[in-house]
Amino acid sequence: MLKLFRRHQYLRQDTLGHSYDVVIIGGGGHGLATAYYLARNFGIRNVAILERSYIGSGGTGRNTTVLRANYKTPDTIRFYQRSFEMYATLAQDLDYNMLRSERGLLWLAHSDPQIRNQRERALQNQQFGVDTVYLDARQVHDVCPELDMSGGGKRPILGAAYHAPGATIRHDAVAWGYAIEAQRLGVSIHQGVEVTGLRIDRGRCVGVETNGGFVAAGQVLSAVGGYVTQITNMAGFRIPIVTHPLQAFVTESYKPVLDRIVASADLHIYVSQSSRGEVLIGAEIDPYSSYSTRSTFPFLASCSSRAIDLFPFLAKLRILRQWTGLCDMTPDYSPLMGVTEVDRLLLSSGWGTWGFKAIPASGISMAELIATGKVPPLIAPFALDRFRRDLAVPERASAGTH
Ligand SMILES: Cc1cc2nc3c(=O)[nH]c(=O)nc-3n(C[C@H](O)[C@H](O)[C@H](O)COP(=O)(O)OP(=O)(O)OC[C@H]3O[C@@H](n4cnc5c(N)ncnc54)[C@H](O)[C@@H]3O)c2cc1C
Repeated sequence: MLKLFRRHQYLRQDTLGHSYDVVIIGGGGHGLATAYYLARNFGIRNVAILERSYIGSGGTGRNTTVLRANYKTPDTIRFYQRSFEMYATLAQDLDYNMLRSERGLLWLAHSDPQIRNQRERALQNQQFGVDTVYLDARQVHDVCPELDMSGGGKRPILGAAYHAPGATIRHDAVAWGYAIEAQRLGVSIHQGVEVTGLRIDRGRCVGVETNGGFVAAGQVLSAVGGYVTQITNMAGFRIPIVTHPLQAFVTESYKPVLDRIVASADLHIYVSQSSRGEVLIGAEIDPYSSYSTRSTFPFLASCSSRAIDLFPFLAKLRILRQWTGLCDMTPDYSPLMGVTEVDRLLLSSGWGTWGFKAIPASGISMAELIATGKVPPLIAPFALDRFRRDLAVPERASAGTH
């Protein structure tokens, strides 16, 4: 049961110390969750989170909040399924209302290759106990009558994979829920503290340079989202990640008409309606690599037009706001978690366009790795050396844009 009143809604201002058992760079969902599970599951509380802006200011507070487990490889299905299950009880675990809402997720097919892809997704999901079924066009219409089945007269909808448990959850509440509980358990959180360098002594990371001075650390976790290659540059090695902007926008509020989350791999967009009534529209990453979070008009124009092809009622609505976040994209569209060639420097990265839904499973697994030194089997397939060993975890076809 959620308690109705909390005494502490705001974060304590912690004073930056000189030394911690664990320093986590980045106060996004992944850094905050790892700190929370370190304290809760392993009693490791001498932990500092260093966040150069404010918590949740990166991808965690900019994403489109889709939770799903309908991936394609056994390793990713297992991993995201665990995260999905953890999200189901997260509000109770953290005693923080997160407005989780089960919607059902339709992944539309407008072409023969996508029909094959979505059929395959449904079968693979079923093998691992994930609730995804393939629907023909008539069944798609029954599940989501608001859809224009002719796709604006240009791209008729031929079928879809339907993942009934697909859900949304408030992103800033996830960040705040983890932060408040981590801090209550003894973790210190420092906003406005930027890591500007790593101190490496004989191949081992011994601490971080910050705008507030040097901070010694037993272990350092980089959880900086789209900025991970800046951290690995500081450490003197390279990883196969390229950062791309990803944009999204919402319309003004409208009466509640759209229960489902609807994605189209052929049209490269997805649409849902928030609890405030705003219709939320997202798309593919921008095709160029950049650290820019500037939003663009061509994105808005082309994305709106594709969204109207699916939902003609959108043509009446005005756009309320638009924003951009950064995505740390791996070549196989799977995350990159674990140890690096620098001793005591770990990464939680490669979260690309799909990392919000992974926060609980990654947080608990990274905490276990840091506390025990043993890689939990759940995240072993996502190690950095998979590329060297030719063991990529190919998820491009199902990572989609959310
Ligand atoms: C528009 C958009 C829509 C998305 N939709 C979805 C979705 O529906 N579902 C889904 O699962 N995923 C989605 N994603 C992806 C998801 O948002 C990210 O994968 C996830 O939020 C990454 O979390 P993180 O904790 O790794 O990084 P972030 O939340 O980006 O946090 C990293 C933090 O590190 C800080 N930082 C960086 N460098 C330093 C430094 N040197 N020193 C100190 N601090 C530093 C930053 O300020 C930032 O706060 C979307 C992303 C975007 C942009």
